[in-house]
Amino acid sequence: MLGLKPVKIWFVCGSQHLYGPETLAQVDAQLAKITDYLSKEAGLPLEIVTQPVAKSSAEVTDLCIRANADPECGGLILWMHTFSPAKMWIRGLSQLTKPFMHLHTQFARELPWDTIDMDYMNLNQSAHGDREAGFIHSRLRLGRKVVVGHWTDTDVHARIDAWMRAARAWHDWQGGRFCRFGDNMREVAVTEGDKVAAEMAFGFSVSGYGIMDLVDVMSGIADSDVAALAAEYETLYDVMPVLKKGGDKHHSLLHAARQELALKAFFAEGGFKGFTDTFEDLHGVEQLPGIASQRMMAAGFGFAGEGDWKTVALVRALKVMGHGLSGATSFMEDYTYHMVPGAEQVLGSHMLEVCPTIAADKPKVEIHPLGIGGKADPVRLVFDARLGDAVSASLMDMGNRFRLLVNEVTTVEHPALPNLPVASAVWECKPDFKTALQSWILAGGAHHTAFSFDVTTEMLEDFATMAGIELAVINADTTIPQFKQDLMTNEVYWHIAKGFRA
Ligand code: MN
Repeated sequence: MLGLKPVKIWFVCGSQHLYGPETLAQVDAQLAKITDYLSKEAGLPLEIVTQPVAKSSAEVTDLCIRANADPECGGLILWMHTFSPAKMWIRGLSQLTKPFMHLHTQFARELPWDTIDMDYMNLNQSAHGDREAGFIHSRLRLGRKVVVGHWTDTDVHARIDAWMRAARAWHDWQGGRFCRFGDNMREVAVTEGDKVAAEMAFGFSVSGYGIMDLVDVMSGIADSDVAALAAEYETLYDVMPVLKKGGDKHHSLLHAARQELALKAFFAEGGFKGFTDTFEDLHGVEQLPGIASQRMMAAGFGFAGEGDWKTVALVRALKVMGHGLSGATSFMEDYTYHMVPGAEQVLGSHMLEVCPTIAADKPKVEIHPLGIGGKADPVRLVFDARLGDAVSASLMDMGNRFRLLVNEVTTVEHPALPNLPVASAVWECKPDFKTALQSWILAGGAHHTAFSFDVTTEMLEDFATMAGIELAVINADTTIPQFKQDLMTNEVYWHIAKGFRA
């Protein structure tokens, strides 16, 4: 995926000098066995690097400073094989800036009933070593994931997998740059936000550009490159005859291809991982970028319409979380409802820009008028989304904090939409239409979302923990009274937790 840098996870085992060299040698050997197994057998998305067993405050502090300074370290897995007095973790963990996960496991799965003695118990005592660790993590108010189970369990691997995916997305955001052509679409509230607060909370920055900066790059793209890309469109998609070479509107396809090549060049130059534009600021371009934006998303860039930089970053994050899976993640907008009782559905789409990674079949390339923006007809990819379970996620700036809102949904079969000139998805919400939408509206959820068939609520929960932001989930277990109470409780918690830095 574009712009994805190498990320490694450090596996850290805590102990102490009390046990003597013989026991510590056993700890070393068993730690090596676990990390070797996790690296080779667990199918995890990130490389695990074993660190020396941490036995003192100085060693823990050194470890945390090294982790902070290593650009490839995306996070730490902590495990206390033996007891590790937790005061020795205070100085290090207090300055750790990387996310960490606490794996509560034990080397041996079964108790050796016939042979167990005190030596065995002194070695295999994560049952209380990890409690001591958990206390200091809680005492220091450190956000982290806790995973419980034997290290050979596939369920444990799945929990680590989700956390690693979140860690990779978090790593990707740090120092990340997003590009915003023009400003916010006029007077829209939810797409606005505090970019300073966002950089403090999330580590990415948003840089504004005039669309003419892109137009300058477009004019420098060679005609031969443009023609070659347009020809590629004809091989990849079902292109409308009028848009094909020799067709009346082929010029529009060429213009779209020129936009895509210019966007690619512009982002390579600026090191951007995503972008937003707005139909209200299109001076110098003939049409709103449609297929160009769609294909940029398919290449891994974050995208959202109308200046919505928060959703740009979120789409990028979900794409990174899903890296190596099916790749099906898109910008989405909750557009229109099917409100038949008992069969309620949401039709999601956008005026052009839905990512073809979520397409069920080969997309069509079409050209149709766009009622807003006052520009020429834009070229776009048209398709129906695939069927299956997905998440719809929205990031809002609540003033004193960011809120990540998630709804678990399922895309469903539906009648054909022969007159719809854009890509779309139709889904049902969990737990049901009314509860989901009542909750979404109460939480102030946006109409723009990041929509993914790869990403799970667990990954987003881990991601919110790393970011230290509020998470609100609407799923099969959601009830209105509890959800309302959670929002009110969160209001108090986040007001206090963030203090004066918000
Ligand atoms: Mn929109």
